[in-house]
Amino acid sequence: MRKIFLGPPGSGKGTAASRVAPRFNVPHICTGDLFRENIKQETPIGMEAKGYMERGELVPDEIVIGMLANRIKQEDCEDGFILDGFPRTIPQAEKLSEISDIDVAINMDVSDEIVIERLSSRVVCKECGEIFNLRGLIPKQEGKCDKCEGDLIRRPDDEPEVIQHRLDTYKEQTSPLIEFYKDKGILKDVTCPNINQTAEETAQSVWDAIDEFLAEAK
Ligand code: ADP
Repeated sequence: MRKIFLGPPGSGKGTAASRVAPRFNVPHICTGDLFRENIKQETPIGMEAKGYMERGELVPDEIVIGMLANRIKQEDCEDGFILDGFPRTIPQAEKLSEISDIDVAINMDVSDEIVIERLSSRVVCKECGEIFNLRGLIPKQEGKCDKCEGDLIRRPDDEPEVIQHRLDTYKEQTSPLIEFYKDKGILKDVTCPNINQTAEETAQSVWDAIDEFLAEAK
């Protein structure tokens, strides 16, 4: 089971991927989280990635590809994986096809309006990365993570001026992947009808899309 999640920042792909991965018993690999972990540990990759991320730009392909290729070589990926936030450019997608076969690409199709609204009210746990949303996915205890009680913070790239830049970057560099995977016959669209859709509802739509895809593939 090798799946990828495409979609603009704030489309809910991370939240959906984290709920779908346990069902297939495969790791959920988010390149953004891998970078944030590297930044926290002050590794050379982290130091390189930090500036790009804070500006809302993509980290150069060679850095991301190397990091991802190492990650999916690990033992826990033997039965598959769910990639969230990779690939994000055509060269990344081409490289991925060389090293692994992908069976389905889920495209989270969400309007700019919803994305901006979501990202402006998103907070994440400083310790474990769990995502909350002050409009929908509200933490039980104010400012604290439900899972590990870590402090909740706003990501530096969720500041309003950076959000717009990330959306532009997505449109220019990542959205061509929709055609790329459509041409391969493995694209499945999941639409988000409105801002009030809960994380569980989004995850359910993704499950349904995967089930549909598997039924069609038989
Ligand atoms: P979002 O999808 O909300 O933008 P992510 O956590 O997936 O958040 O990514 C955060 C940042 O990490 C991106 O804006 C980018 O700078 C960097 N990044 C993550 N994945 C990639 C990738 N595949 N290629 C280049 N940069 C990436």
